Amino acid sequence: MNAIIDTPKVRFYRPVANECALFEMAHANGLPLLLKGPTGCGKTRFVEHMAARSGLPLHTVACHDDLSASDLIGRYLLKGDETVWVDGPLTRAVREGGICYLDEVVEARKDVAVVLHPLTDDRRRLIVDRTGEELAAPRSFMLVASYNPGYQNILKKLKPSTRQRFVSIGFGFPDPVTETAVVAAEAGLDEARSAALVRLAGHVRKLSGMDLEEGVSTRLLIYAATLIAKGMRVEEALDAAIVEPLTDEPDVKQALRDLAASVY
Ligand code: ADP
Repeated sequence: MNAIIDTPKVRFYRPVANECALFEMAHANGLPLLLKGPTGCGKTRFVEHMAARSGLPLHTVACHDDLSASDLIGRYLLKGDETVWVDGPLTRAVREGGICYLDEVVEARKDVAVVLHPLTDDRRRLIVDRTGEELAAPRSFMLVASYNPGYQNILKKLKPSTRQRFVSIGFGFPDPVTETAVVAAEAGLDEARSAALVRLAGHVRKLSGMDLEEGVSTRLLIYAATLIAKGMRVEEALDAAIVEPLTDEPDVKQALRDLAASVY
C-alpha cells in the first residue's frame, strides 16, 4: 500500500473561511472530518498544513476503485519463510495517534465503509479482524476524508449512513483575492498577472456543467502561472495548463482559447 507519510513541515496554506478553527475543534473533540469540494481547490494542502501545525504524522491514501479494507488495515506478508503482519496506513495512524486522510473516499470499495463506521462514531475503534485486535483510537487520532460531489456518478455517492458520521466542510474555489494571493505565492508570479488568471478562471468556471465537466482548478492556475513566470508565452502557457487539461473537444478548446484571448 503506497501511503504517503508526510514529515511534519508546515506548508503554506491561506485560510478561506473558518476551516482551520473547525479542524482544530473537530480534532480536539475526537470528531472525524469530511472535506467536500472540486478537485484542486486546496483540500489536500489544507490537511497537510493542519497536520503539520498540530505536529501529527499524516498518512494520506489516494482512494481508487480497487482499494479494499485490507489495503487500509494491513495484511500478512511472506518474508523469507515467515509470515509477518504489516499494518496498513489506517492501522498505523490509529496506533501512533496520527491523522489518516482518505482522499476521494467515495472511490474505495464498499467494505471500507464497514471499517470506518466503528472508527467514526463514539466507539472510535478499529477492528483488525485478521490479528484479532480491537484498537481504541487515542485522543490525537483523527480521520479526515474528502470527496468531490461534482462528479456526476450516481453509483458513487457517499451513503447517508457514512456521511452522517462526519463533521463536514464544503470547499469551493477561494474568493478572487485569496486565490490571487495563492497563485502568486505558489508560482512566484506578480499580483497583476495572477489576478488576470483568476479572472479568466471565473469565466471558465461559469462554463462548468455546460460544456465542461468541471471548472478550472486552483492547481491548474498555479501551473499556468508557473509557466508564465518562467517565461513561456502566455497563449502557450494557457493552452498547456488550462485548455488542454480541461477538454478534448475541438469546439470547446476553441471557445476556451477565445475566452482566454478576451480576458487575459
Ligand atoms: P485538492 O486536494 O482539493 O484536489 P490540493 O490541495 O492538491 O487540491 O490543491 C492544489 C494546489 O492548490 C495546492 O498544491 C496548492 O498549491 C494550491 N492551493 C489551493 N488552495 C490553497 C490555499 N488556500 N492556500 C495555499 N495553497 C492552496
